[in-house]
Amino acid sequence: MTEDIHPDVAHTILSTEQIQGRVAELGDEISRDYGDEPILLIAVLRGAALFVADLARSISSPVELDFMAVSSYGSSTKSSGVVRILKDLDEGIEGRHVLVIEDILDTGLTLKYLLKNLASRSPKSLEVCTLLSKEGKQRVPISCKYVGFSIPDEFVVGYGLDYAERYRNLPYIGVLKPAVYLD
Ligand code: IMP
Repeated sequence: MTEDIHPDVAHTILSTEQIQGRVAELGDEISRDYGDEPILLIAVLRGAALFVADLARSISSPVELDFMAVSSYGSSTKSSGVVRILKDLDEGIEGRHVLVIEDILDTGLTLKYLLKNLASRSPKSLEVCTLLSKEGKQRVPISCKYVGFSIPDEFVVGYGLDYAERYRNLPYIGVLKPAVYLD
């Protein structure tokens, strides 16, 4: 099925159908791995909000949800590696199985900081599930147990991912037309 594409989007790289299919597979994999053990999903706001909503519903293990918001100093399309916690977790994670849910792994600097911070709070286990991973871009090694898709190094929007806070509500993932950045 073809979808209506937003006029600012040059081309889609992942259709709604591809995303939904892969999210269901990730949910099955996670459910198999954790079984009846409760999992605390920690979604990184705001990009992972849409992904975690769909993923949580495809997991059959007991799931709890918490959120963290971080900001990376830098321009809107580049990560600087200096991370500030804008919203911390509501509860402690000591002794719990934690699965961090990210929208996209780019340089890895944000996750490196987050994982170090969370590891210091003594969870029972700490793993990462990212919807997207940019090929060849990681500047620090991050072990991601669950990866939805590896994508080329392009700036993408949709399904939670934004450019200047826009386009998060697109149900597919695409690349913006260059003119959008110039305006
Ligand atoms: P990292 O620290 O370089 O791995 O960057 C991670 C964060 O940068 C992600 O959680 C996103 O918020 C943002 N980001 C990186 N690449 C993109 C992109 O292509 N589109 C939208 N946001 C992105």
